[in-house]
Amino acid sequence: MNHTPTKLNVESKLFCPRRDCPCYQSLDNNITKDGVYTTKNDGVARQMFNCGKGGHRFSETGYCDLFGKHGSFKEYEQMCKLSCYGLSADAIADVLLKDTRTIATWQRGVSKKANRFHDVICLSITLTVLFIQMDELWSFLRNKNSQLWVFVGFEVDSRFWMNFELGSRTTHTATKLVTRIKHYIGKLSRINPLKVTTDKLAAYKNALQSVFTGIDYVYLQIVKKRVKMRLVTVKKCFVKGTEADFKGKTQNTSYIERFNLTLRQRVSYLQRKTLGYCKKKATIRMFFGLTSMTTTIDAIIKA
Ligand SMILES: [Zn+2]
Repeated sequence: MNHTPTKLNVESKLFCPRRDCPCYQSLDNNITKDGVYTTKNDGVARQMFNCGKGGHRFSETGYCDLFGKHGSFKEYEQMCKLSCYGLSADAIADVLLKDTRTIATWQRGVSKKANRFHDVICLSITLTVLFIQMDELWSFLRNKNSQLWVFVGFEVDSRFWMNFELGSRTTHTATKLVTRIKHYIGKLSRINPLKVTTDKLAAYKNALQSVFTGIDYVYLQIVKKRVKMRLVTVKKCFVKGTEADFKGKTQNTSYIERFNLTLRQRVSYLQRKTLGYCKKKATIRMFFGLTSMTTTIDAIIKA
């Protein structure tokens, strides 16, 4: 593969966040800075803007999922960090001297905001999609009798985490993941045919067949056979395309597996042999939202 990794390129532009404004999400908005203010939650000055075309003012945090949630930037940050270390909402509430319900509200707010950020970034970067690997990992949810599966989609060339989906280990969840990825690659440039590798789970095959219509892709399944935890054979199954379509070091799912291992090491929610597993789906959604956000920022900084 003699293709050099593509650089991520993000330009920051000001957009009007008010949904009923005529220039909502439009570049033609004439937004200017218009003074600062502080809230009683912290002393950090917040910027006000004036939307010239829409004829209204808005705050830098306005219309966001954390607006009016009575916390300071610092408290939101602490809450996120403590969540990632595996503290429960009760424990965080105790540390930050807040009500548990307040913490839960913040977690939902951060989750929504992080996901939206990821969305915006995915749709505004100039990234060439070349090779996608998908994998799933599981942890416990609520108690040790119920499992939560996390499906992850990953662009290998730029190491860009495209999307994740939470749910059961079924075609339904895989379809949701693939649909989202299709939505993103519709806006990004790609090199045809697009390479996709996954493990042997049939859900991906079904999802790709039903969702990736109109996309030129080749698909390879890596079937690993283990006996007593030891890897015995690795079989390559070319579902769509031939061996010639997968040149170089592309006949594997190693990148995503390595990435999942890193995730499991860092995130207390995904460690199975402890009691730190996740008790609520909303928390893990927040965590993944946050991680996708930080990996995105990392990718941008490195580019
Ligand atoms: Zn406006």
